[in-house]
Amino acid sequence: MAQSEWELVVGLEVHAHLKTRTKMFCRCELEYGAGENTRTCPVCLAHPGALPVLNALAIEHTIRLGLALDCEIASHAVFARKNYFYPDLPKGYQISQYEDPLCGRGRFALPTAAGDREIGIVRAHLEEDAAKTVHAGGATGRSVGADYSLVDFNRGGTPLLEIVSEPDLRSADEAMWFLRLLRQTIVEIGISDAEMEKGTLRADVNVSVRRHGEEGYRPRWEIKNMNSFTCSGRAIGAAFRQQIAAHEAGETLAQSTYDYDADTDRLTAHRSKEEADDYRYFPEPDLVPVEPPAELVERLRGEIGERPAERIRRLEAAVGFEQALELVTTGRDGLYDRLVAAGADVRTAANAVMNAIVTAAVDPAAVNADELALVLAARDKLPRDVYAEAVARSADPGFEAAPFLEQTSVSDESALDPVIESVIAANPEQVATYRGGKEGVLGYLVGQVMRETQGKADPKVVNRLLREKLRG
Ligand SMILES: [Zn+2]
Repeated sequence: MAQSEWELVVGLEVHAHLKTRTKMFCRCELEYGAGENTRTCPVCLAHPGALPVLNALAIEHTIRLGLALDCEIASHAVFARKNYFYPDLPKGYQISQYEDPLCGRGRFALPTAAGDREIGIVRAHLEEDAAKTVHAGGATGRSVGADYSLVDFNRGGTPLLEIVSEPDLRSADEAMWFLRLLRQTIVEIGISDAEMEKGTLRADVNVSVRRHGEEGYRPRWEIKNMNSFTCSGRAIGAAFRQQIAAHEAGETLAQSTYDYDADTDRLTAHRSKEEADDYRYFPEPDLVPVEPPAELVERLRGEIGERPAERIRRLEAAVGFEQALELVTTGRDGLYDRLVAAGADVRTAANAVMNAIVTAAVDPAAVNADELALVLAARDKLPRDVYAEAVARSADPGFEAAPFLEQTSVSDESALDPVIESVIAANPEQVATYRGGKEGVLGYLVGQVMRETQGKADPKVVNRLLREKLRG
């Protein structure tokens, strides 16, 4: 099998629970970890005659996301019923969006060391999540083989954002990188906690392969509900290998849903993919179309700050791609920006933020950047322990650089020169020993200089000057 002849084609469907106080169409409060079936009402339990009412904040959050992904924001968006029968869906349909989503075509510029990779966004729409089914008994935790199943309706009706990408991703790493940066974007614009381990962010991964240079796409496998980045990456790798093997063996692959088993690193067919028609979509008759006013869209646009991908690009010019990436993905670039604005050198600031600040376990948000910038400017003149102490205190209330700056080490050669000369003159024996080849005695002489300067001399400079003078 020659994997190198094949190209991986990946698209993602990402679901994020929106951060709202109440559900999408009723006033039940959303609370992670609340007792089972304690957050329900006639609307989200689909009692006859109960009518949905739109959650305005969920609409705003969806528009925010659309703006962050450069999507076209619809002037007329429609909710639709997606009909299917499952115990976690009491109405027998899910209220979703089909033909007229809130957010249309967009793009995501994914920064890489070799420049931006543009990942197309097909759409982003708003829907309600289904309830949560727990299958008890049986080995797999799935419905097949379970003794019985229980449904917790607390999750039913949670506002859910679905983002669909074009199949523009070409490696498992690239797909993971896109997912991570998309997640960071979602979290930063404040619309979701997007925590995979809590299930507030889930990804469906669509994978196909084709020969290099081939036009069009072959049938894809849809791997549902991936709940970790690592697992998604491994599932993509497994699908890549299995599909190549199947194509090379002359098998015809069908488009279908697959489950990934992390223990065996294999994918198994779940069920054949329903065609869109199977859902019998039609406009939701109980909700009017949403027509976001232009002023609202413009206000929300004004609230979207610089996105993580943009910040990586901006910082790259100053500190290089790798460091820019690290600063932004760890959320430490805010402190970096504040230090640079306070006059710190870009590289010194980046290094301090990624190293000394981390070592000292200081909260970047609490750091007094103006004062720390003064410490950074004097860094080369400060004894190492004084510098470390200053950094460690930089988030303390009332932190000031001045007391630390007074402890400047003397590295100025003209200031050190007479001291070194006098130490050499006062220690003829040690000097002779050193010149005789026993270099270990240098430490003693450095110590004498440090004593003469009350510890303010820069030991590195003293070391170098002593060696030079003793050589001559
Ligand atoms: Zn409810």
